[in-house]
Formats: sequence, C-alpha cells, structure tokens
Amino acid sequence: MKSFTYERARSPAEAAAAAARTQGAKFIAGGTNLLDLMKLEIETPAHLIDVNGLALDKIEATPDGGLRIGALVRNTDLAADTRVRRDYGVLTRALVAGATGQLRNMATTAGNLLQRTRCPYFYDTNQPCNKRVPGSGCSAHPGGSDDPGPRSPADAAPKVKA
Ligand SMILES: Cc1cc2nc3c(=O)[nH]c(=O)nc-3n(C[C@H](O)[C@H](O)[C@H](O)COP(=O)(O)OP(=O)(O)OC[C@H]3O[C@@H](n4cnc5c(N)ncnc54)[C@H](O)[C@@H]3O)c2cc1C
Ligand code: SF4
Repeated sequence: MKSFTYERARSPAEAAAAAARTQGAKFIAGGTNLLDLMKLEIETPAHLIDVNGLALDKIEATPDGGLRIGALVRNTDLAADTRVRRDYGVLTRALVAGATGQLRNMATTAGNLLQRTRCPYFYDTNQPCNKRVPGSGCSAHPGGSDDPGPRSPADAAPKVKA
C-alpha cells in the first residue's frame, strides 16, 4: 500500500475544504471498498479525509412523503428502517442481498453508491481491464476492446435512483 496522510473532518464544510486544498485526497467512510482498492494499489490517494464523525446518519421524512437518507447511514440501518421496509421494500431486499452482515454494518449509503465496479477482473491486477488500465482490454468480454459496462456498481444503486 502507498503511504498516505489522514485526517478526521469535524463538519461537512471542513471536509469539503480539506478535499479542495489537498491534491489526491479522498473521503473515507466505512472503508469496505476504498481500503481493498488501496491494498491492491488500484486507488492511491495521497490523503484520506475520514467523514465518519459528521452527523449525516439520519433517515428523515420529507414534506412530499419521501425519505432523505444521510450519506453515513449504514446499510444495515437503512435496510432495517421500518419506513424503508414498508414503502421501499425492494431497497431493503437489495441491501440485505449484498455482501455480509459485518460489511453491511460498516458500509454507508454514500460509499455504496460511489464504490467502484464490482466486476472481479477490475480487482484482479493480473487481468486486463479497460476500466482499471484504459486500452488494456476487457477480460469479461475478451473479444472486444470496449467496456460495455454490463455491471451496476452496487446492488442498491438502481433502487435508490428509482
Ligand atoms: C466481500 C465484499 C462483498 C460485497 N458484496 C456486495 C454486493 O453483493 N453488492 C453490493 O452492492 N456491494 C457489495 N460490496 C460492496 C460494498 O457494498 C461497498 O464496499 C460499500 O457499500 C462501500 O461503502 P463504504 O462506506 O465502506 O465506502 P468506502 O469504501 O469508505 O468508500 C467508497 C467510495 O465512496 C466515497 N465516499 C464514501 N463516503 C463518501 C461521502 N460521504 N462523500 C463523498 N464520497 C464518499 C469514497 O471516497 C470512495 O471513493 C461488497 C464488498 C465486499 C468487500
Ligand atoms: S467489464 Fe471489462 S472493462 Fe469493465 S470492469 Fe469488467 S473487465 Fe474491466
């Protein structure tokens, strides 16, 4: 793993300012995707801004009858929320179908939506992958050179969008 610096942000404004001032900075939440990618040196951020201390872990009703989901709501908590289970059952089912209980306890809503592709070749640095190394080829479709983008980045992403 490449060396990096680290700080804990105390407010969203502080997090945004740190990202703007530090080249190569990335936010880290549960770390369940970013740390794997850093160990493989697919992601090599020079600086990590830990956002776990920000108060963005609420699920709130909106006046128009919807729900506002905070960036730091854990997948476990989102899936278990009674309003989500009642009105957005497909989202609960998508979340509990993903990963494992331990990972869902750490994974956040923002991290889930912003994780990199789950295509296994992207994580296997011995295999060609256009998304990891542009122009190297696509191990999922070895006959073609273009990434057809067949995989959603996260199971929950299409459901949140819907
Ligand atoms: C073994 C394993 C199995 C898995 N199985 C599934 C599965 O079946 N289905 C599925 O959908 N997913 C699966 N995942 C992926 C998992 O859901 C993601 O790793 C997780 O949702 C990422 O959330 P995180 O909070 O840990 O993100 P992190 O790893 O902390 O961050 C991921 C990305 O989001 C960015 N980010 C995080 N928070 C913020 C924020 N507040 N603002 C701006 N940017 C932010 C980070 O900079 C980084 O680029 C699996 C992961 C593992 C390791
Ligand atoms: S589909 Fe191909 S280019 Fe896209 S992530 Fe997978 S191996 Fe890489």
